[in-house]
Amino acid sequence: VFNFAAGPAILPENVLLKAQSELYNWHGSGMSVMEMSHRGKEFLSIIQKAESDLRTLLNIPENYYVLFLQGGATTQFAAVPLNLCNPDEPVDYIVTGSWGDKAFKEASKYCKPKTIWSGKSEKYVNIPSFGALEQTPEAKYLHICANETIHGVEFKDYPVPTNGNSLLVADMSSNFCSKPVDVSKFGLIYAGAQKNVGPSGVTIVIIRSDLIGNAQPNTPVMLDYKIHAENNSLYNTPPCFGIYMCGLVFEDLIAQGGLSEVEKKNVKKAQILYDTINGSKGFFRCPVETSVRSLMNVPFTLAKPELEAEFVKEAAKEKMVQLKGHRSVGGMRASIYNAMPLAGVEKLVAFMKDFQARHDI
Ligand code: PLP
Repeated sequence: VFNFAAGPAILPENVLLKAQSELYNWHGSGMSVMEMSHRGKEFLSIIQKAESDLRTLLNIPENYYVLFLQGGATTQFAAVPLNLCNPDEPVDYIVTGSWGDKAFKEASKYCKPKTIWSGKSEKYVNIPSFGALEQTPEAKYLHICANETIHGVEFKDYPVPTNGNSLLVADMSSNFCSKPVDVSKFGLIYAGAQKNVGPSGVTIVIIRSDLIGNAQPNTPVMLDYKIHAENNSLYNTPPCFGIYMCGLVFEDLIAQGGLSEVEKKNVKKAQILYDTINGSKGFFRCPVETSVRSLMNVPFTLAKPELEAEFVKEAAKEKMVQLKGHRSVGGMRASIYNAMPLAGVEKLVAFMKDFQARHDI
């Protein structure tokens, strides 16, 4: 089956097979990773290697902590303001889709966020021109969602915050490790693992070290980055098996030649899909402005919406599953994360062309 789900999503087959081969007995320890103490030497070697490989992949500067946390990216919507500002301080949000909007709404419980740009009135199909942004001079940070999973809108470049701290914060849940990123441009990056790098249950936070230690006094201990940084993500029992799986994915991404190589493959996959949509003479449509179309999540509709259910059903029969668009926007969506092979996208576009030939009359 080619699984086009938005997340939890497809994982590399070789990674799953490796996990299977050591499921009962990890490296001769006689234990499954699920059974290990998180403080034992075996698991410590797993989490340290995972962190070190992620640092290699993203070229993370030394003055950044890498944290393996729980609670999903949704928990970070609260943790970010709780750690980076006081209740009465302003922060800025650029809202390019539903996830950015959710992050903004959660932040309003903990500080004074302002949406300085929203694509909502145009149904989230673009990204603002950075020059026209009116940032709040006293804002403690500027928040973006680097890739809007539902709407398929992706930042190709990043705005420079003009606030006091020059602090850019990004939710990279759905394009994490899909391409190289200059981490030094960000104060904080967070991502749920379950799209590109592992199973659900692990959330990765990359944070500049000078930003920890100022959490609001009522911050729950589990949301305080300082606690997790000082305890190497082992303050409490971490999601051990999920971290192990992320580690296997990082190893695989390094073996593929790193994120520049991974990006080339992602560009190629997205290109053939968007080319098929563009070349369909309006039979298929992607609402997103061409320059900001996501390499990861490709939403599209049919000129004849009454055929959409049939499209999804027939595709599933051909073993291409989870192509239905998010319930809030309808249509279709093909999520083509790192682990989606080119063959999966080629099969999808062949099916799209055939479907068009049979129905475009
Ligand atoms: N942010 C983005 C961009 C997402 O795609 C998602 C989930 O799909 C979330 C946040 C929420 O993540 P979680 O379900 O891990 O809390």
